[in-house]
Amino acid sequence: MSTTDVSAALTALEALASANATSSSGPLNTLLDAHFAVAKERLLSGAPPKHVITELQAAVAKSKKEVEKGLKAWYSQLGGLGKNIEKAFPPNLAALSSAYDDPPLFSEPAAQDALDRVVLDSLGRRGLWDAVAAFEEETGLTYDPEKRRLSEELHRIVSEIEAGDLTSAIAWAEENKAFLAAGPHPSDLPFSLHRAVFLTYKDGKQALQYAREHLFGYLPQQRVLALVTSCLYVEGDESPYPNEDKPLAAMFRTDYCRLHGWAREDPLEVVVDLGSRGGALNSIEKARKVMGDRLGNVRTWHELPMEVPLPNGRQYHAVFVCPVSKEQTTETNPPKMLQCGHVIAQDSFNRMLAKGAPSRRPVKCPYCPQETSAQQAQRLYF
Ligand SMILES: [Zn+2]
Repeated sequence: MSTTDVSAALTALEALASANATSSSGPLNTLLDAHFAVAKERLLSGAPPKHVITELQAAVAKSKKEVEKGLKAWYSQLGGLGKNIEKAFPPNLAALSSAYDDPPLFSEPAAQDALDRVVLDSLGRRGLWDAVAAFEEETGLTYDPEKRRLSEELHRIVSEIEAGDLTSAIAWAEENKAFLAAGPHPSDLPFSLHRAVFLTYKDGKQALQYAREHLFGYLPQQRVLALVTSCLYVEGDESPYPNEDKPLAAMFRTDYCRLHGWAREDPLEVVVDLGSRGGALNSIEKARKVMGDRLGNVRTWHELPMEVPLPNGRQYHAVFVCPVSKEQTTETNPPKMLQCGHVIAQDSFNRMLAKGAPSRRPVKCPYCPQETSAQQAQRLYF
């Protein structure tokens, strides 16, 4: 459960509130505007009053039912929102924090300052400039103007990509060509951007011209020929080269952050997500209650006495499992990075090296064509 579930529930609630059928005022307005007006007109034009009143009574009864139905939907959604909030946030956060108050949290000026900076950075990253201004005023901190320029550029280009305009993104990729092409893992972004433009051409000749100018440079690494020949297939015909939709905005964001040395994700969001959706805070609180007597003050724990289940996208490994032997690496069998940046265990590397004997030829990476000699393999420390 995360804060996004809460926002989704809130949005649904807002939709209900403004929908005519479920807002309590909708059926009542209809009653007042339509039925009462009609009844008045009919009375004035000489219809039998008893008849008109009976009809009006029926209309009122019907409206009452509709109001009740609307309210029921409203209350059920409201109840759901409450449950979502409970799940997204640890219960009784205030009581929880007092248990962690020894020593008090964020009381040191340096800790307070660090917290303020993380919040300010998060607001800036999201482009919430009004909130940044208010926060700056309250804390006396200043959001770095250069970072602001970059964050604004990132938001502008991402929203252009989302709107289907790739011009700025392509210009940015061109400007940072060398960085994007550099190893060990060159970015797919420039090719993917040009690929998306190529696929917009309806005219084969123009498409081919575009491919010549922008795509053929990627021939050795990418499926350029498959892509270019895909335009030979008539629309509707089943092409053997299906359109692989790439999340261009996300790719751009990743490379942009990488270029400027920013974390790929907003650090504050990661922390909040792990504490709430990941359930870390709940698990720690449970352990504190159960084992607090034995383990002492929670603030002095150096490691957690239990597993904290984390969502898939947030699993961070302090251990490394060799993709070749499927064994966990150890001090005596440590992880080794090959020239290409791929990593395998030392034992796996040595076995592959032995296969090339007696000349002790370099080892070909199990994942890519690059070769690495015994001297070039580098030990990694996690
Ligand atoms: Zn490799």
